[in-house]
This record gives sequence, C-alpha cells and structure tokens, in this order.
Amino acid sequence: MYGSAYEGRISAVSSPAHRPGVTATEKAPPGMRGVGPTLPYPLKAALTRGRSAAWMLRGRPRRAEGLRILLYHRIADDGDPLAVTPRRFREQMDLLGAQGYRAVDLDEILALLDGDGPLPPRTIGLTFDDGFTDVAENAHPVLARHGFTATVFVTTGVTDGRHPFPWYRDQPPVLDWDDVVALDREGVLRFEAHTVTHPNLLTTDHATAEREIERSREELEEHLGRPVTAFAYPAGLYGDRERRLVAEAGYAAAVTCEPGLNVAQTDRFALRRRQIDSRDTLLDFRAKVAGGHDTPLPFRGHYRRLRYGMGPPPAARESSPA
Ligand SMILES: [Zn+2]
Repeated sequence: MYGSAYEGRISAVSSPAHRPGVTATEKAPPGMRGVGPTLPYPLKAALTRGRSAAWMLRGRPRRAEGLRILLYHRIADDGDPLAVTPRRFREQMDLLGAQGYRAVDLDEILALLDGDGPLPPRTIGLTFDDGFTDVAENAHPVLARHGFTATVFVTTGVTDGRHPFPWYRDQPPVLDWDDVVALDREGVLRFEAHTVTHPNLLTTDHATAEREIERSREELEEHLGRPVTAFAYPAGLYGDRERRLVAEAGYAAAVTCEPGLNVAQTDRFALRRRQIDSRDTLLDFRAKVAGGHDTPLPFRGHYRRLRYGMGPPPAARESSPA
C-alpha cells in the first residue's frame, strides 16, 4: 500500500472542484497536434459485442502460447469514453484473480519474453496510458489487493503542466511528478514514457518526433532516478520511422495498440496490446483476455489510415502466432 501522505495528495488534487463534467471530443480536427480516442464509439461497442458472442459460440480453442497485454486509460465514473468505471474494473480484476491469472507490469512481460523457459499460462500484462490521477485512486487499491502490478505510460509535458491533452475540453487531473515518483518507488505501478506532448508522431517532422521520444525518456529518468526502458506510441500510431527512433533513443521496448499475442519472436518495438473499452461487458473482457479479440476490428486499419495517415504497421509483416 502507498502511505497516507500519498493518499492525502491524491484526494487533494481530485476534489470535486477539479472535476467539471469531463468531455472528450470524439473527432480530432485535421492537423490537430495530439491524438485521442479512435473508432466511433457505438459502432465499436456493437462490433466488440458481436465478436465476443462469436468467441463464446466457437468454444475453447487450443491455447496458443504467448502473452497478452491489456490497455486502459482512465478508471472513473464520469462518462468519459476513455474511462472504465471503478466497479467494472474491480469486476474485471476479480475475474482475473478468480481464474488464477497473474497480472503484471510490462517489465515482467519483457523478462518473460526474453527468458529461456516456456511462457507461463494465465499471465497477462496491464498498462494504463496517459497517467491520470484516477488510476492511482481507483485502480491501484484493486491491483494491490490482488498482488497485481501495472505499467503507466506518462506524457511528461502533461505531467508537469506544460501541455494539456488536446482532446479534452475539461481535462481530468493527471498525476504530478511527486505522485509519479512516490508510486514508482512503492511498486504496484511502474512508470514509462509516452512522449512529451502526445502528438500524432506520424505527422510530426523528424526533429520533433525525435525530441518527443528522447526528451520524454530523459525527463522521466531525471525524476525517477532509474533507467526508463519502455515507450508507448501515442494512440498506437507508429511506422518504420517511429520504430527506429524509439530503438535509437535507447528504449528496450515499445507498445502499440495492435491486438494479439506477444511471443519470444515478437518485435520488441511493436508489442501488441488489446484495449479494454468503457462499454465492454464482462463477456467482452473474458473474450479479450482469452484471445477472442486478437485481430483488429474489421476496417480498423482502413479507418486509421484515413484518419491518422497510419500505414500498414511493421508488426503486420511478422509471422502472426495467432
Ligand atoms: Zn496516450
């Protein structure tokens, strides 16, 4: 558990005065610097529901060896499309616990992928993007109770108040540096890099992309006093250039928003993650954990190319285990 001094800090920054009705814009204007939510929301929920039902009807396929990583943003009750409610999150973690899963941070996933032995069954990675305060308030106690750990990817310029996330009219509070340092030392949450300003890296010039990737690592290392090894592409948008820049900046790994299993051969700079959405039912969650959603939704690649200028991901060219 983290100390009461820390909890005091959290409740101070999340008083109702700091929580005007949160509104996330669904449509990013063209040329917008940052990137927010992806697919139109009701359509995505309907497609997800259909796939979960299909997964259920197919019955249990033979288990493919590999590790899945889940992606969350916020754990909150305010109707933000990027938020899973605290109650639903608790149910999801309780389900993992009841099914004998061990949920671990990215560091442990990397150690397992790099290890000699077979990949353990019922082990799953947990990640939270953007570093919102509600992750410490609402996810941390649940994770601690289960003995789970998770990685939080923070956007350093937002962490220290230099930049807002551009998709919010009223941005929910984010963890500040004191929170990040205290939580990282405590150990349930471990912090890694997610650029300085959360741009669409695909549309930034070379020097800016390089600076966003390098500076976020340096700033995080300055505060944490330890090496920062992992990077998350904002909104999962990346191509060959971004992949190369992340590798050159000295990271050991980077995570995308492309779903699927991670195996020993998976490109460390294109690790797969499956997002858990606010409208996911418990069945959707079970299906995502068990591999019923290991391929992208139909038309997702097309949609992302149109909206963000994202080409076929480098990950698409490697042999897929599932
Ligand atoms: Zn993000």
